[in-house]
Amino acid sequence: DAYISAIDAANGALNAYVTVTPEKARDMAKASDARLTDGKAGALEGIPLGIKDLFGTEGVHTQACSHILDGFAPRYESTVTQNLWNDGAVMLGKLNMDEFAMGSSNESSYFGPVKNPWRATGSNADLVPGGSSGGSAAAVAAFLCAGATATDTGGSIRQPAAFTGTVGIKPTYGRCSRWGIVAFASSLDQAGPIARDVRDAAILLKSMASVDAKDTTSVDLPVPDYETALGGSLKGMKIGIPAEYRVEGMPEEIEALWRQGIAWLKDAGAEIVDISLPHTKYALPAYYIVAPAEASSNLARYDGVRYGLRVDGKDIADMYEQTRAAGFGQEVKRRIMIGTYVLSAGYYDAYYLRAQKVRTLIKRDFETAFHAGVDAILTPATPSSAFGIADQELAADPVKMYLNDIFTVTVNMAGLPGIAVPAGLDAKGLPLGLQLIGRPFEEETLFKTAHVIE
Ligand code: GLN
Repeated sequence: DAYISAIDAANGALNAYVTVTPEKARDMAKASDARLTDGKAGALEGIPLGIKDLFGTEGVHTQACSHILDGFAPRYESTVTQNLWNDGAVMLGKLNMDEFAMGSSNESSYFGPVKNPWRATGSNADLVPGGSSGGSAAAVAAFLCAGATATDTGGSIRQPAAFTGTVGIKPTYGRCSRWGIVAFASSLDQAGPIARDVRDAAILLKSMASVDAKDTTSVDLPVPDYETALGGSLKGMKIGIPAEYRVEGMPEEIEALWRQGIAWLKDAGAEIVDISLPHTKYALPAYYIVAPAEASSNLARYDGVRYGLRVDGKDIADMYEQTRAAGFGQEVKRRIMIGTYVLSAGYYDAYYLRAQKVRTLIKRDFETAFHAGVDAILTPATPSSAFGIADQELAADPVKMYLNDIFTVTVNMAGLPGIAVPAGLDAKGLPLGLQLIGRPFEEETLFKTAHVIE
């Protein structure tokens, strides 16, 4: 009830939730009470969560914040959300996001932008919460849920977490099942939590993660009790600092934050080593080929026949065209055009195949560092703090918007786990985050190290 009242009071201003499910929440909470009375409580018994609109939730609108999925309510539950309900969590509603998770500011949502609960000192200007999981990050930051699910294809958990002073982890590719989550770029997409602190993120990920026969890319490895990894010294650990992440034009405050993070980890007993990830500069262009290519294929299913919106036409081809023209927003159309272009017969080798080769080189860079004994890599999470809503410069130049992902996309390209943890405030009083990147399936190391920073 407290969370539902908080949503009622604040959501009009923040626009973090696109669907609120108070009845379902109360029913689930009652069932939780019964289990608690019977002494059968799950790990998340009664914990109220917000769910990104990308997760299929049975009987509850699931629109990926796109017009083309108008009115769609699946008859199935995503594996990740089912895992959470099995552990006793309670659903408060569905959270706003960039349309089909394409964006870094939550401004491409069909339901309008989300406002960051943070403002610069002495300013009333509205800021973005980051994206695409902007609703998840804003809701957690504003206490409109105890934690939230999110997804990350190129930074969509970590960048919004950094912009809102929350913790977000993208686990290793394969750690969580993608089944029942609306697909953006299937070889990059991973689910993970956004939470108020590292401990909450650890508890949530433990519950979300599982091998799943319905997603053959999910991995059959035991899911450790991440919470027990927290605490203790970092003695014997090696933390890599990649020279290539010192990008041109990076604000001095971000540099200073990074130096501060290094000092904290050193104080906790870690050894700091310089490393090189030489292919970093190709990650962003390669990502913006691979992700749209996969997206153009995944989005082919929205044809006005099977889901959501249908705009009638003079024949079936015209109906497809009218539906897709009306149903997809500008950014999604841009990605479909780029994607079909780079996959087309004459350009496949020059773009898509080349991007895949670059992807392998990026992965090898990380492998080299890990083989040399590095346990985790420390970088800034984003090149700036949260920027203004409707920023003219960014609206005019989509590539500038894509630069937001400069520190995060490499991690998805390599399939590695990455966590964003709040590390301080900038001169404007806005949160800044640091990112830790780990070895495959060693999320515990990230939780342990991030806990030292938060
Ligand atoms: N901002 C990136 C993009 O627009 C990443 C999005 C994501 O991780 N879902 O593709």
